Amino acid sequence: MNLSNSRPKILIVYTGGTIGMIEDPVTRSLRPFDFSHLIDNVPKIQMLDYDIDNIQFDPPIDSSNMSPKHWSDIARAIEENYDQFDGFVVLHGTDTMAFTASALSFMLENLHKPVIITGSQLPIGEVRTDGEENLITALQVAAARDINGDSMVQEVGILFENYLWRGNRSTKMSADNFNAFKSNNYPPLAKIGLGIHFNEDALYRMPNKRPLKVRYNLDANMMFVTLFPGMTQSTLEYVVNTPNIRGIVLKTYGAGNAPQEVWVTDTLRSAIARGVVILNVTQCVNGGVHPSLYATGNSLAEAGVISGYDITGEAAVTKMMYLFGMGLPAESVKKYLNFSLCGEVTIH
Ligand code: ASP
Repeated sequence: MNLSNSRPKILIVYTGGTIGMIEDPVTRSLRPFDFSHLIDNVPKIQMLDYDIDNIQFDPPIDSSNMSPKHWSDIARAIEENYDQFDGFVVLHGTDTMAFTASALSFMLENLHKPVIITGSQLPIGEVRTDGEENLITALQVAAARDINGDSMVQEVGILFENYLWRGNRSTKMSADNFNAFKSNNYPPLAKIGLGIHFNEDALYRMPNKRPLKVRYNLDANMMFVTLFPGMTQSTLEYVVNTPNIRGIVLKTYGAGNAPQEVWVTDTLRSAIARGVVILNVTQCVNGGVHPSLYATGNSLAEAGVISGYDITGEAAVTKMMYLFGMGLPAESVKKYLNFSLCGEVTIH
């Protein structure tokens, strides 16, 4: 890891989450506090020889309240400060962190600076907090340079405990463990131990450096439909025919399989004929969709359901929000779902 000669300039965007929470003395539940408290609790930050500035959400929010409007606020903070800073650290609740990381990876087109999202399982004011380490390491990752003096990380990442993961490959895996995130289908971008060891082969590099272009328009008319044995015809018809829905992430079994009953494929086929895009994503934690492996998967492909390969649900839904948000017709959305736009999916 190399640091450039000049002091790294890092902007912290504090959105809320457990990392900045304190206990309400009356109700004893956790509620967000303001950023000055956060910095007061991490005096070690002063030991990093960085220029650090911050922007905070007012009020800071629990990430269960995140919405595309908040993603735009984060993206705007990055866009407005893009030239003045070497990197960005976003402090965020863990609950929807993987959705935010995925959304930002699509919205921040041509990103070539680090956007490192982190948070914690325990509030930063608590003795056993994981927040202090996560924040300090996120700042160091955002400041890291490669041998050419360029930013080591040029994408959206999630830094949590011992790993840096690609944002749009990540999923929250645990509500308890300090190692709360994982990319089940992609190697870590860095391992954090005594040192920060980057896996340079896994880091994303844009083929050409172009100016940052932020896409603020997202179409939130999306839904997840999770198959389960016993799902009735009327339930499937009801959800698939939800008014205004443009995209459905269909969570299927195993390698992308669904019951072969005619009403299943007929219901999906008629939604697709109306212009709804249906993306097949496996319910399995690891691996992806192989539509031609079983007849049960093939019937979905024949009905016009698109393969999501090994994409996460978080990346699948935000990718469709982004593609439809650009005003693309269904046929073009389907085309782009078959491409990796920023490292979110493996397509052989
Ligand atoms: N509910 C919190 C949030 O996502 C949990 C956390 O930060 O870990 O904002």
